Amino acid sequence: METFQSTNKGYHAELNVITYCRNRTAIEDKSKFRILLSFGQHARELITTELALRILSILSEEQFLPKMDPLLLNNTLEKIVIKIVPVENLNGRKKVEAGDVCERRNGRGVDLNRNWSVDWGKKEKDFDPYEENPGIGPFSEPEAQLMRKLSTSFDPHIWVNVHSGMEALFMPYDHKNTTPAGLESQKMRLMLESLNHLHCGDRCVVGSGGGSVGYLAHGTTTDYMYDVAKVPMAFTFEIYGDEKASSRDCFKMFNPVDHPTFNRVLNEWSATFFTMFNMGAHQMKDPQPFKVEHLISIDDYLNGYLIERKNRYGEKKEFLDLGLQEIRTYFRLFLLSSVMLMFMFCSRIAKSNRSHLPSISL
Ligand SMILES: [Zn+2]
Repeated sequence: METFQSTNKGYHAELNVITYCRNRTAIEDKSKFRILLSFGQHARELITTELALRILSILSEEQFLPKMDPLLLNNTLEKIVIKIVPVENLNGRKKVEAGDVCERRNGRGVDLNRNWSVDWGKKEKDFDPYEENPGIGPFSEPEAQLMRKLSTSFDPHIWVNVHSGMEALFMPYDHKNTTPAGLESQKMRLMLESLNHLHCGDRCVVGSGGGSVGYLAHGTTTDYMYDVAKVPMAFTFEIYGDEKASSRDCFKMFNPVDHPTFNRVLNEWSATFFTMFNMGAHQMKDPQPFKVEHLISIDDYLNGYLIERKNRYGEKKEFLDLGLQEIRTYFRLFLLSSVMLMFMFCSRIAKSNRSHLPSISL
């Protein structure tokens, strides 16, 4: 666990980040599939942090997922690095714990899910300054700055912003009622529809945040992660909501109040996340595609090799400088003759195999 801190005009924020990786030395390994999850961005949505703790408990093998194939899970966990922020809005959470159960904003009254730069500050007709205060400018809040830094350095393949208030699996966009075009977007939708079917009993709302809830949200984290940070799969999951609860009873609107519901929510949604880990790790077989610019020509390779040798044996510099062109030519001839030999060898094997074939056509 790492703790990051930031202060702005006397307002101090702290961010705890837990990193899961099978092998501690592979945390920085960029060939791993990277997943970034944040919980508790809205202070009153306490259940989200409970889910973070449950996921961590399963990852540390303290608890187990009943229906998960242990071999598949093991194989997945080998391939991934997960970073979890269990309480993004620590200062807001303190207010809720002190009795202000309707508070969703940070410690100085800013909605952290409206403080990001994509379409920041735009106000809808039903704008409620108490709920949706976007701050004095994009990234005015230290919590948002810390999260942005984390996403830039980690560069995840999957981002999930976890909330409560309803049951939904959202993808971009929040600031307009459409989803992005193209294959990436289709992949996101497909993943969400599978998760809905497997773990939400098809109850969850699936689609763009802006197109599904009846209002648009501007300056959200998920829109930034998709549009600016270029995270290929950027989601917002809404894990629980009691729409019948009185709007004065904030705790009940956003959090289960009995043990069976509490356990059901944590069981279903931890399974959702682990299925998503499986799908992500296996869908993207090569998380860092081999880029053309990484390929070097045999000439460049040889040049590099010879220059390196030259430095190591400084006294033989002259000889190598003179012989560079010749050595390159010999190396090419050597490669060419090896390929020809290989070809001759293979065609001989093919011929000798053919003689064993039956004379009658099958
Ligand atoms: Zn929320």
